Amino acid sequence: MTKKRLAPLKFLAAGLASSLIWPGNTMAHDKAESLEDLPRAIQVDYEDRLESLYEYFHANPELSFVESKTAARMAEELRSLGYKVTEGVGGTGVVAVLKNGDGPTIMMRADMDGLPVKEKTGLPHASKVVQKDRNGNEFPVMHACGHDIHITSLLSSAKMMQDLKDDWSGTLVLIVQPAEEIIAGAKAMIDDGLFTRFPKPDYVIGFHVWANLAPGKIVLESGTVMSSSDSVYITLKGIGAHGASPHQGIDPIVLGSSIVMNLQTIITRNVAPLNPGIITVGTFHAGTKNNIIPHEAKLGLTVRSDDPATRQKLLDGIVRVTNNTAKAMGVPDELMPEIEFAPNKTPPTINDVNTVNIVRGTLEKNMGDHLVRIERTGMGAEDFAYLMAPETGVKGAYFSVGGSVMEDVSRSPSHHSPEFNVLPKPSITTGTEAMVRGAIALFNE
Ligand SMILES: [Zn+2]
Ligand SMILES: [Zn+2]
Repeated sequence: MTKKRLAPLKFLAAGLASSLIWPGNTMAHDKAESLEDLPRAIQVDYEDRLESLYEYFHANPELSFVESKTAARMAEELRSLGYKVTEGVGGTGVVAVLKNGDGPTIMMRADMDGLPVKEKTGLPHASKVVQKDRNGNEFPVMHACGHDIHITSLLSSAKMMQDLKDDWSGTLVLIVQPAEEIIAGAKAMIDDGLFTRFPKPDYVIGFHVWANLAPGKIVLESGTVMSSSDSVYITLKGIGAHGASPHQGIDPIVLGSSIVMNLQTIITRNVAPLNPGIITVGTFHAGTKNNIIPHEAKLGLTVRSDDPATRQKLLDGIVRVTNNTAKAMGVPDELMPEIEFAPNKTPPTINDVNTVNIVRGTLEKNMGDHLVRIERTGMGAEDFAYLMAPETGVKGAYFSVGGSVMEDVSRSPSHHSPEFNVLPKPSITTGTEAMVRGAIALFNE
């Protein structure tokens, strides 16, 4: 930090806005002078620019793969910060590159899509948006997962990395990713040449704001941090009959009920007890009337696991149990169940040990009071996993930043709910500082 900047720091501490101290020297010019100056610079950026950007994004959410206004705004902001910006990568994705001499390539990722949820937070900047999804169906839209926090923070990281160019050398790639909520955007960007048309990263980092974590707290661990997720659809075919003459048909509801119960034995009997896994049957549709045995039933499953071997065991188990339960109930070969694995599957998000050690090292040194350790309590999935899947050769670290609006964090409204709400300031400023410090530590490794 230069001597010149010490004076305004004192004034800031007295509660004055930086623009009052340096007339005409507002946000775009107020630079982070050094890594030491980073927390102050981010706070000033928040007051000057980020708060209103966040409120704009929050009030204008867009659904997966139709985030065109958000993408255009992000592209414009990133261009104005001196990045080389490419739009339309993997649909609505944006890639921004800043070359700064020799060195590694590091990617920062933020996802930008909202959800088909009608906002009920009552906030002044609550969304009133209704939008058609990519299939033409209209929904109310809300940033009910906090992706508006992620993109706002990415803009601050972009500014800070530009300001602190003397502290690192290499290539920085920022991506604004579409369609995380349907687990499709990261893969779409990769399929559209994210790793071939642009500098391929050695490391990728990103974070998710978390409503059930205290404001400004950071959780960063190595190993599996998010689970794999697969959707499976099973169509059971039977033979329709009168409900009073079941012997004349094959009842797909009874078959489906047996399959639902038998599927649960895969986890309890085939998977090691300390190895987590979930098979949830979330939909079961069949029938039209009490006294008709229908000819068909449909099941929809979500399958979660923490490692590729368990994942394969669960998927194989679903096929085995479904087909053999049908056989046991006398379903003929020509009516065997149809099992479909949806393409929007996600591998587990596995943080690289070395990458985590480097990022954690700088966070412990500079933001030690933010770091906390908490046990995972669920098996959520995240398509960030695609960016650092083993076949990409990219190492990565994905972490959580707290934004709870409640003192008792367990009472915060859940992600994806109409009341979802996080505190923007601590989550954006902490997320930005952690991303910038992490990236600079990786550049200097
Ligand atoms: Zn979500
Ligand atoms: Zn999310």
